[in-house]
Amino acid sequence: MENDLEQPSEPVEPCEPSLVQLFGRRAFIVSVATAVSAAAFWGLRRSTVAAARPMTPDEGPKTVTIIEFSADGKQTDTVSLPRLIKSDGEWKKMLSPTSYRVTRHADTELPFTGDSWNLHDRGVFRCVCCDLALFSSETKFDSGTGWPSFWQPIAQENVVDTVDGSLMEVRTAVSCRLCDAHLGHVFNDGPAPTGLRYCMNSAAMHFVKLG
Ligand SMILES: [Zn+2]
Repeated sequence: MENDLEQPSEPVEPCEPSLVQLFGRRAFIVSVATAVSAAAFWGLRRSTVAAARPMTPDEGPKTVTIIEFSADGKQTDTVSLPRLIKSDGEWKKMLSPTSYRVTRHADTELPFTGDSWNLHDRGVFRCVCCDLALFSSETKFDSGTGWPSFWQPIAQENVVDTVDGSLMEVRTAVSCRLCDAHLGHVFNDGPAPTGLRYCMNSAAMHFVKLG
């Protein structure tokens, strides 16, 4: 699974002198060269592709344009609002521990543990931090991953895609336009009509059921 919590291990192990005796001098030099190349490559990646994380108050636009949806899931207005900025302490106080870790520190909930991966009701998934409408049940599909999955957001304006190099694979992180909450990642292996798979965290959203 691409969206797991596995962290890459350091590629370079200390080379003990006994390895020279064990493999011979030439093999030892080759293995050291390989290790140095791997370290250089890893260091380069780490410095050029930063992990996606929610923006700080000093970063990003002060005003954002989003699409509003009514309680019955209908698109209403396009509005410009000040970006919702709170301190880390304020977010921590208002969110559950899992929602706080996921949305404010770009964590990923364990698969099959959230409350919406297996939810099949009609409704709208809204941001757990700011209530912005993010996904509709009409685009939800069973991805088999244990995370709620959608083939498109309810409005492209309401989410932000950011390159995320925090794992070996470069992924695209998805966050809330209004409050920068980390929501999950988007992949290119989804179903028609978009071919996209928005792999979200249940803990980043709350569900508003439609009658
Ligand atoms: Zn939000």
